[in-house]
Amino acid sequence: MDIVFNCPNCDQELASDPAGAGSQIECPTCHETITIPSNKGTTGSIPATPGTPVTAAAIATSAAAKQELHLKVPVRTTPSESLIAKPKPPLEVVQKGAGKRLLIRTIRHASCIESGHDKFDEKAAAFLQEVGESNLVATHIINYEHFDVGLQKIMTDYGLLIIYRG
Ligand SMILES: [Zn+2]
Repeated sequence: MDIVFNCPNCDQELASDPAGAGSQIECPTCHETITIPSNKGTTGSIPATPGTPVTAAAIATSAAAKQELHLKVPVRTTPSESLIAKPKPPLEVVQKGAGKRLLIRTIRHASCIESGHDKFDEKAAAFLQEVGESNLVATHIINYEHFDVGLQKIMTDYGLLIIYRG
């Protein structure tokens, strides 16, 4: 876990590898020579003088430790948050969404009645199959009113609104 601290000179938030505790570095913002504290996650009152344990200082002064020492300025403001960049989405996902528009298809139940047979499920399933699971963004149930010619009255019916990439 990185040591997060503030530059005692310019208050720039900094993060260092734990191996860097006790060693003196140049602040990347104000170029003041500062000492990396050994206490983790503390911000504010950091002793500017190298009053760190002997072991930590000894390790830090060795050539190997200095090579491993990476000083970085966190991009984000919250110290508790991970300073490691979040992994990018897999290339596969990017490719699937790339170059495709968001489209909407509304399938009304009433329009799926053929010769008295309810073909709604069949038609909805066929369309979803055509779109493919990877291009499917969302589905919504809709309710609507329509005038039924046969029954001569206004009926409430349902349908499916499909949002997909294509
Ligand atoms: Zn500084």
